[in-house]
Amino acid sequence: MSNSISRRGWIASLKAALAGACAGWAGTAQAQRYVHPRRVFLGENTRKEFREALEQGRIQAAIIPTGSTEQHNEHLALDCDATCATLISQQAALRLYPAVTVSTACPLGYAPYHMARKGTITLRKETFTAYVYDVIRSLTTHGIRTILVVNGHNGNHAPLLESIPAWRKELGITLDSETYISAYRDEELAEFLTSYRLLKEGKLDTIARRTAMSHASEVETSILMAGHPERVRPFTMDEYDRAAQNYESGYSPAVARYLEPFTKEGWPKGGNPENARDRARQERALYATKEKGERLIEIATRFIAGKVEKMIEATAKGAPWPPAA
Ligand SMILES: [Zn+2]
Repeated sequence: MSNSISRRGWIASLKAALAGACAGWAGTAQAQRYVHPRRVFLGENTRKEFREALEQGRIQAAIIPTGSTEQHNEHLALDCDATCATLISQQAALRLYPAVTVSTACPLGYAPYHMARKGTITLRKETFTAYVYDVIRSLTTHGIRTILVVNGHNGNHAPLLESIPAWRKELGITLDSETYISAYRDEELAEFLTSYRLLKEGKLDTIARRTAMSHASEVETSILMAGHPERVRPFTMDEYDRAAQNYESGYSPAVARYLEPFTKEGWPKGGNPENARDRARQERALYATKEKGERLIEIATRFIAGKVEKMIEATAKGAPWPPAA
């Protein structure tokens, strides 16, 4: 077979595969709602497309989603945080299209305190921050002067806050991080989320109930039901109770070593409330709906897009970031 024939055959089969994939994809509700053919993900572009977008000044900022692969109770996929951060980043980039590119997400984060549940993978703090720094430095090297890290996992929040000011100074760019959950105000959530209404009404009677608010409960479950329903499984509290997991002491010495820094401080009188908290999260997840998820995605998208817009303006004006208070 000559080269040109095999090449034609390959292109024909690629075209057929793409046509099939596109037809299948376009038919899903998700494609209509959350995925747009405009390629905001850096990795979906060829080097030619990305180079030309930069050269023509179309790309003015980058978002780096950061997440975690960790336990999210009995019903959510382990990659919930990376998935939610990527979804919000993509939606914000589409809103500002074509000014923002979304870098490959960091799928792992700092989550040693979840190691009692199997499936959790944690980075050390220094691994996580080194990873994010390297991504920021790569993008900066390509000439992107405005970068927002959009974080989806609480454990990454402090390491990012601690690192960003020094990186900003060193690289001389408009750089910041934002955990998308910061978009939500308890008051606003109380208008449409059952768990936040109960919190506002003072009906959450224990520390475990008051602290089991966003992780794996009504907020994250609703977001995934709207944006990534394939990552949500049905469950009942009966099944949960039958699994009889013990997250206060029922783990191996190897897990105990991971948990040690988190088993000494910060617990209220009476010790580790983790079993009660875990159960409270599972109960809250039952309040989740797709419609609530759509509202949550909208609030976070508006918040992140607004922040990136302000950062782009600051870069254009040569104004300091963060703006002087
Ligand atoms: Zn989460």
